[in-house]
Amino acid sequence: SLSDRLGGVFDRLRGRGSLTEADVRAAMREVRVALLEADVALPVAREFVDKATEQAIGQQVLRSVTPGQQVVKIVNDALVAMLGGDGDGSAAELDLGVTPPAVIMMVGLQGSGKTTTTAKIARRLSGGQGGRERKKVLMASLDVNRPNAQEQLATLGTQTEVATLPIVAGQQPVDIARRALQAAKLQGYDVLMLDTAGRLHVDQALMDEMRAVADVARPAEILLVVDALTGQDAVNVATSFSQQVPLTGVVLTRMDGDARGGAALSMRAVTGKPIKFAGTGEKMDALEAFHPSRVAGRILGMGDVVSLVERAAETIQQEDAEKIAARLAKGQFDLNDLRAQLQQMRKMGGLGALAGMLPGLKKAQSAVQQVGGDKVLIHMDAMIGSMTEKERAKPELLNAKRKIRVAKGSGTTVQDVNKLLKMHQEMAGAMKKIRKMGGLKGMAAMFG
Ligand code: GDP
Ligand code: MG
Repeated sequence: SLSDRLGGVFDRLRGRGSLTEADVRAAMREVRVALLEADVALPVAREFVDKATEQAIGQQVLRSVTPGQQVVKIVNDALVAMLGGDGDGSAAELDLGVTPPAVIMMVGLQGSGKTTTTAKIARRLSGGQGGRERKKVLMASLDVNRPNAQEQLATLGTQTEVATLPIVAGQQPVDIARRALQAAKLQGYDVLMLDTAGRLHVDQALMDEMRAVADVARPAEILLVVDALTGQDAVNVATSFSQQVPLTGVVLTRMDGDARGGAALSMRAVTGKPIKFAGTGEKMDALEAFHPSRVAGRILGMGDVVSLVERAAETIQQEDAEKIAARLAKGQFDLNDLRAQLQQMRKMGGLGALAGMLPGLKKAQSAVQQVGGDKVLIHMDAMIGSMTEKERAKPELLNAKRKIRVAKGSGTTVQDVNKLLKMHQEMAGAMKKIRKMGGLKGMAAMFG
C-alpha cells in the first residue's frame, strides 16, 4: 500500500523535527503514482500534488506517527476537502429551491447511466419505495437517437411508481422538453427530470442539442453523469460538457465496480462542481450520497486509511497529553494546565488519553459531570480566561478582591471561583502524590 511505500521513503526521518522539502517531494512522488494508479487524470494529479506538497513542507513531525503516516494524513485531508461538497468534507445536495417545477437535466455520454440515474433520483425525491422526500416528480426522456430509449424510462417509471411523460412518436428533443415543461406546470409537478441522449464520444451535434434543451428548460440542476470506470478520459468528458452547459453537479456511476475513484477527483477539479450522488448498482435503490472520505480512501488505495488517519489524530492528542504529563511529572499544574484539560474535555467529551494516566483527573471529570457537564466547563473556561497570566500561574494570588473581579469578568459568582480553585487544588495535590510514587511511569506500571 501507499503507506508501506512511504514508510521506505521516510525511514531515516523519524523524529527529526519538521518535514523537509526534499523528503516531502520524495513522498509526493509516491502519492502521485498512487493517484495515477487510481485513474486520477495526469494534470489533476499534478496540480493536486503541488498543493499538498506546499501544505506538507515544514510541518512538525509528530513523535508518535511515522512521517509516512503524517503525509498520508495530509494528502487524505486535502483529498477529502477537495472532494467534499463545500470543501468541508460533507455531502452536497440538490438545490431545488426555485419556483416549481424545478427542472433537473441529466447529461453525459451514452451508457454512462443517465436513464438509470434519472429514475433513481426521481424515486428518491418522490418518496417511492422508502425514499425520504415526497415530491411530485415527472420524468421525460429526450433520447430520440437510441431505439427504445423512451420506453426504457417509461418502464423504470412504472417500476418506481414515478410518472413519465407520454411518448409522442417523431418529436424532437427540444419539443419534448417544451411539452414536458408545460405538462409539469399544468399538472402541478414539483420536479421535472429530463433524461437526455448521449453519444459514444463527445460531438458537436450532441452539444448543440443539449444547449438548446437547456435554453428551453432553464434547469435548476444540470447533472453530468459519469462512469467511475472512465479513468483518464474523464477529464476530456468533463471539460467538454462544462464548456457547453452550466453544470451544477456530477453523478458518478458504477462505484460498485472496482473503480479506484480517481474519476471523482478529476471531475471535481475540472468542473469545479460537487459530486452529488454515487451510483452503486443497477437496482433502483442503488444510489447514495457521495462520501468524500470513503472515496479518498479508495483513491489512496488504502482500505485502512480511515483508521490510520484516526489513529494519527489520536496520537496527536496523545502528544498533547504527554506534554502536559511532562509538566505534571515535575509537579507543575497551574490553571493554564487545568484550562487545557478542560478544553480537551469539552472537545472529546472526556479526558481521553490523560485520564487513563491520571486517576486524579478522572475524579475531576466525574465532579464536573455531576454539577452540570458542558455548561460548567464553559464557565470554568471563562473564569480562567478572566484571570491575569500571573494569577493563572500562581493561583494563590487570588485574594477576595481579585476573586470578585474574576467572577464579574466571567459572569459567575465568587462561590463558583472558589469551587474552581478547590478543584484545581485537589488535582494539583493528586499530581504531587503521583510524583512521590515515582512519576507517571511508576503510576502507569501500578495501574496498567
Ligand atoms: P445511459 O445510456 O446513460 O442512459 O445509461 P443507462 O442508464 O441506460 O445505463 C447503462 C447500463 O449501466 C445499464 O445496464 C445500467 O443498469 C447500468 N448502470 C447504471 N448505473 C449503474 C451503477 O451505478 N452500477 C452498475 N453496476 N451499473 C449501472
Ligand atoms: Mg439513456
